[in-house]
Amino acid sequence: AEARARYAAARPESAAIHAQARGRLAGGNTRSVLFYAPFPTAMERGEGCWLLDVDGNRYLDLCGEYTAGLLGHTDARVAAAVARAMDGGISLAGVGRAEGAFAALMCERFPVLERVRFTNSGTEANLLALAAARAFTGRTAVMAFEGGYHGGVLSYTAGQNPVNMPVPTLLVPYNDIEAARTMLRKRGGEIAAVIVEPMLGSGGCIPAAPGFLAMLREETAACGALLICDEVMTSRHGPSGAAALAGVRPDLATFGKWIAGGLTAGAFGGREAVMAVFDGHRPGSLPHAGTFNNNVLSMAAGPVALAEAFPPARAETLFAFGESLRARLNAVFREAGVPACFTGMGSMMTVHFRDPPPDRPYAEGPEEAALRELFFFDMLEAGIYLARRGMVALSLPVGPAEADRFVEAVTGFVAERGPLL
Ligand code: PLP
Repeated sequence: AEARARYAAARPESAAIHAQARGRLAGGNTRSVLFYAPFPTAMERGEGCWLLDVDGNRYLDLCGEYTAGLLGHTDARVAAAVARAMDGGISLAGVGRAEGAFAALMCERFPVLERVRFTNSGTEANLLALAAARAFTGRTAVMAFEGGYHGGVLSYTAGQNPVNMPVPTLLVPYNDIEAARTMLRKRGGEIAAVIVEPMLGSGGCIPAAPGFLAMLREETAACGALLICDEVMTSRHGPSGAAALAGVRPDLATFGKWIAGGLTAGAFGGREAVMAVFDGHRPGSLPHAGTFNNNVLSMAAGPVALAEAFPPARAETLFAFGESLRARLNAVFREAGVPACFTGMGSMMTVHFRDPPPDRPYAEGPEEAALRELFFFDMLEAGIYLARRGMVALSLPVGPAEADRFVEAVTGFVAERGPLL
């Protein structure tokens, strides 16, 4: 309560913006993930990996727009590409040169993609991948994992109201090799696709256990279901995404977040034979329309993000940088003897107020929930902006000095709040 009160007192303008918005904007915001009580911080502007809120508070941004802000807030190359595209006019109602070039770069970067198509978001990429799997297999059911998040209308987040698309979904615990294998052997004939994150992102940065993805690959191949890896968040890991790091090649994969340098975009694709369901040269092809699928701004920014700002070699160094930061943070908890940890992979991590690290989403008790909230408000107080759930997604402008600053802030949290932990 004290942390909340301090938070509110330092942010009168954010409070006013929220109160006013609620008069017309349902709930006062248009992205559920950004809401928290008493009101969310309203941002004024960003530069590099820094954010300024409307009340004049400055933060080191470690939220990284939930992985979409990989390039930071003001990448000059993206800005120049967008400005050039603007110059040629927007909303042209035509295909152009850029989308084919962007597609070629996506296929080169992610070998799983024999063919790719663009969407406006990760949610749409997943909806279309599922539609493709259903059209290709002639089956209807989908298998997904508890705690998985595949978009606003494809959320299996524990404890939340699922508003899933009208597809019969078989839910299995994440990382439960036996349960998933049993389900696929029993019901495999009904299943069009298994959709899985190679690391649960919003479910707590929980990586797939060794052998989990390989088992899904083997069992889906055996029953004729397609394997869809949702790499919307994890495509930043390694040169070609997290499934490739695990040595698994799905039938389809989906993308979003950073791939257009922070502009609106998603993508999905994979095996040529499956993606052929969209081939307009064929009678009865599956429709996939969308006014902004090939919007000129995102199509112009994508190649810059993939080839210039975040080439495979940069992805590898970012991954190593994140691994070392996570190890340092966990050393802080370990040395203080407090039951807390950061789980994750590379540049993505989430705090958990328990030890040992969880290998699947869990129902958080009230004490853990209170600690998570306290951690978030204390980090804000220390000038560090995280996702409310305690997730970090590093962006490229974050360097060693910023990493040190975060380690110091977490050390301070442990020193001050240790008795509560
Ligand atoms: N899939 C995963 C793994 C995600 O984390 C998200 C968004 O957080 C999505 C899909 C949905 O992407 P979008 O918010 O662009 O619709």
